[in-house]
Amino acid sequence: MGCCCGNNGNGCTHNTYKITVIPGDGIGKEVMEAALHVLNASGIEFDYTFADAGDEYAEKTGVALPQETIDAVKKSQACLFGAVGESAADVIVKLRKELDLYVNLRPVHSYGKAGKFGDVDFVIVRENTEGLYSGHEEYTDEGATALRITTRSATRRICDFAFDYAKKTGRSKVTAVHKANVLKKTDGIFKEVFYQTAEKYDDIESNDFYVDATAMYLVTRPQDFDVIVTSNLFGDILSDEGAGIVGGLGLLPSANIGDKNGVFEPVHGSAPDIAGKGIANPSAMILSTVLMLEYLGEPDEARKVEKALVETIDEGKIVTSDLGGSSSTMEMAEEVARKLSKL
Ligand code: ATP
Repeated sequence: MGCCCGNNGNGCTHNTYKITVIPGDGIGKEVMEAALHVLNASGIEFDYTFADAGDEYAEKTGVALPQETIDAVKKSQACLFGAVGESAADVIVKLRKELDLYVNLRPVHSYGKAGKFGDVDFVIVRENTEGLYSGHEEYTDEGATALRITTRSATRRICDFAFDYAKKTGRSKVTAVHKANVLKKTDGIFKEVFYQTAEKYDDIESNDFYVDATAMYLVTRPQDFDVIVTSNLFGDILSDEGAGIVGGLGLLPSANIGDKNGVFEPVHGSAPDIAGKGIANPSAMILSTVLMLEYLGEPDEARKVEKALVETIDEGKIVTSDLGGSSSTMEMAEEVARKLSKL
């Protein structure tokens, strides 16, 4: 396929990006096929390497995340990840740690009429490598224990990212979410480092809330939030709440970002209840490609993909059932691709 500018090999300024694609399990495969269909209608060339991971692969081989997949992600410029089921801890959580993808960026934005909370637009910046997902869990005589880890260095870099992100994207406030009144040491450090970081950004407002109060504020006054920075488990839970606020898990993308790699995935999982029916909403996966395009330094193309998707959702004619329509995953993706090719 030639480049959109028609100048391949003759002064063409577009890159061909090397992308690792991990479809995974269940609807991961379906939304990935849909998102790639949309990307292929963009003006950018991609060189895809398909890689294995997840429950199905583990059933066949006994390994959920093979080393070849980790190596492929390391060698590529970005990775698109669909979803995995029960093996999530052995796949995506492991990938985040192996590649030190310390930021999990989850924009919560209302599109169309799917949400019931008006215009919502905030971003959750979740620490991705430690907290209660540190992977240190063990059985005891009485039951089991899990280790909650907070290091000053990991907290500093996630808080730095949150304030930098706010500054770069024209946002004005960063809110730390924690439970420092109970988790006095781990979240005590989180809060302390957050306010140390805030001092470096006097043009950005900063405040903090307990996680339980935040869970309520998100549904009583979601417009008050701009950038939320929080630890691993709290960020995971609050982003699913965010999904509910804007109309469901089918709409929420995410980016796992480190200093060397980026892995882009929908917030939703493999959704075994609807897998194989071709009815999953592809928006979260398509919006994850938007985040990938921004990461690759292609903001114009990112805006075009987003615009094509938003127009499709706003028209409401060729959308999946969770958005009030009756179209299949691929029919919706084909409509987005059609609109994109005209932009
Ligand atoms: P996991 O533990 O991997 O997160 P899960 O089944 O607990 O898996 P999800 O897969 O995220 O969680 O699904 C939660 C609910 O949201 C399910 O009812 C599912 O059908 C619905 N859902 C998730 N993703 C989509 C989507 N893209 N389109 C429509 N519905 C979705």
